[in-house]
Amino acid sequence: MKRYQLHIGGTSLDPTAGQWFETQNPYTGQTWAEIPKGDASDVERAVQAAHLALTEGPWAEMTATQRGLLLHRLGDLIARDARKLAETEVRDNGKLFAEMLGQVNYLPQWYYYYGGLADKIQGNVLPLDKKGYLAFTRNEPVGVVAAITPWNSPLMLATWKIAPALAAGCTVVIKPSEFTSASTLEFAKLFDEAGFPPGVFNVVTGFGKDVGASLVEHPLVRKISFTGSDTTGRLINEQAARHLKHTAMELGGKSPNIVFDDADLEQAVFGAISGIFAATGQTCIAGSRLLVQDSIYDEVVAKLLDIARTARMGDPMDADTQVGPVTTPPQYKKVLEYLDIARQDGATLLLGGRAADKPECGDGWFVEPTIFGDVTNNMRIAQEEIFGPVLSIIRFKDEAEAVAIANDVRFGLAAAVWTSDIGRAVRMSEKLQAGTVWVNTYRAVSFMAPFGGYKDSGLGRENGIDAIREFLQVKTVWINS
Ligand code: NAD
Repeated sequence: MKRYQLHIGGTSLDPTAGQWFETQNPYTGQTWAEIPKGDASDVERAVQAAHLALTEGPWAEMTATQRGLLLHRLGDLIARDARKLAETEVRDNGKLFAEMLGQVNYLPQWYYYYGGLADKIQGNVLPLDKKGYLAFTRNEPVGVVAAITPWNSPLMLATWKIAPALAAGCTVVIKPSEFTSASTLEFAKLFDEAGFPPGVFNVVTGFGKDVGASLVEHPLVRKISFTGSDTTGRLINEQAARHLKHTAMELGGKSPNIVFDDADLEQAVFGAISGIFAATGQTCIAGSRLLVQDSIYDEVVAKLLDIARTARMGDPMDADTQVGPVTTPPQYKKVLEYLDIARQDGATLLLGGRAADKPECGDGWFVEPTIFGDVTNNMRIAQEEIFGPVLSIIRFKDEAEAVAIANDVRFGLAAAVWTSDIGRAVRMSEKLQAGTVWVNTYRAVSFMAPFGGYKDSGLGRENGIDAIREFLQVKTVWINS
C-alpha cells in the first residue's frame, strides 16, 4: 500500500510522531493509502520553514517577475500531470473522473493569471495636505498563510488560495482534509520541480483538531484562508480573532435555483439537474432548493423526474457514470439522516430517498439521487446544508415571493434565475442576497470572477484581480524632504 510523507521545507518527511492514518476509496470502501498523521510539532517545522523562506533567502530576494515565472512553470507542470492528479483525486473523493480531469486541466489558468499579476501590484504616490513630505504606499505580503481545505475539490480549492498568495509574495502551509490529502501531497512535489525555493509551499496532513488548530494558533501564521463548513469557519474565526489574525472564509450554501414560467424549461431543468446532482450534490454552490413558479410546477417536476430517474450510478472512473458515491462515511450517514428528517417534516418523496444498492454501486457509499416536492421553506431540508444528492422543490407565486423565499436562509453563496424577461433578470440579480447570481446558467466559475459568500456563507473573496489583495498589507512610507 502506498504510504505518503509530509512536505516541509522542500523535503518529503515522515511525521514526527511516526504515525499514519488510512484513506479510503469511496467507490470501493477499501483503504488504498496511508497518510501522515501530523501534529503540532510538524506544524512547528512547517511554519518555521515558511517563515524562513518569507524573511530570508531566495524567495524573499526574488523580484515579482521571477515569482510570476515560477507560477507559470508550476501551471505547465500541472497541465503535464493533470491525468495523474485527477486520478488521485477520484481515488480519494469518488467524484467522476471526467469532472476531476476537467477541473485539474483548468487549474493552470489560475497560476498563469496570478503569475501575470505578480509584477503588476503597484503602490501609490499620495497627494498630501502637508508640505515638505513625499509619501507613498507599498504592498507587502501579509506573511505566512495557513490554507485549510475541505474534501470536495481539494486541488481546485487549494489553488484558489495558493496562486494569489504566492503571487503576493507570501509563503504557504496547507492542511488538506483528512479524507482527501493524497492529491495535495502529490501536487507538492511539483513545486520543487518548478524551482520554488524550499519552504515556500509546505503540506502538513492530519486532523482538524490537531494540525488545523495548531496552524490557527501559531504566532507566525498571519493569515488563515479557510474553505469548509460554517461550523468550523466560526470556530477558526473565534480563535484567529484572539490573535488578531487575518481570515478569509469560504463556507457553506443553500442556494436557490429559481424557475419562472417565462423560462426555457428544457434549459432550466438541465440547470436544475446539474445544479444539484453534479459531484453527487457535494459542492458548496449546489442548487439544493429549486423554486418553481406555480403555473409550471407540474410540468417542471415531470421533466425533472424523467431525466433524474435515468441517472447512471457506478464507478467514477467509468465515462458512462453520471452520479458517483458520497465521499466520506460520516457524510453518507448525514445524507441518509436528512432523508428521514424530510419525511418527518412532511415533504413528498418524488424520487430516490434511500441508499443505493445496485450491483454497479459495489461497496461504495451511494445514495440514490433524491427529489422531494411540496417542500416549504421552513423545513430543515430547505434551511440546512445537506451536501448530498437531495433536491427540495418549493412553489412560489410571483417575483416578490420568489425573492422572499430565496433570501430566507442564513446562507448566501449563490443563486440562479431562469427567465426570458431581461427586466426580471436585472431585478432579481439586484434583490438576491448571494455572492454569485447566475441568469439562465448554473455553476459558471472562473479565475477572473470574484467568488465568495454573503451572510453565513463567508468572508472575503477568492478569484479575480482583487483576490491578490487578500494576501497583501499596505505600508505607507513618509519621507521628509
Ligand atoms: P469541515 O469544516 O469539516 O473541514 C474543512 C477543513 O477544516 C478540513 O481540512 C478539516 O480538517 C479542518 N478543520 C476541522 N476542524 C478544525 C479546527 N478546529 N481547526 C482548524 N481546522 C479544522 O468541512 P468539510 O466537511 O471538509 O467540507 C464541506 C464544507 O465545505 C461544506 O460546508 C461546503 O459548503 C464547504 N465548502 C465551501 C466552499 C466555498 O468556496 N464556499 C467550497 C467547497 C466546500
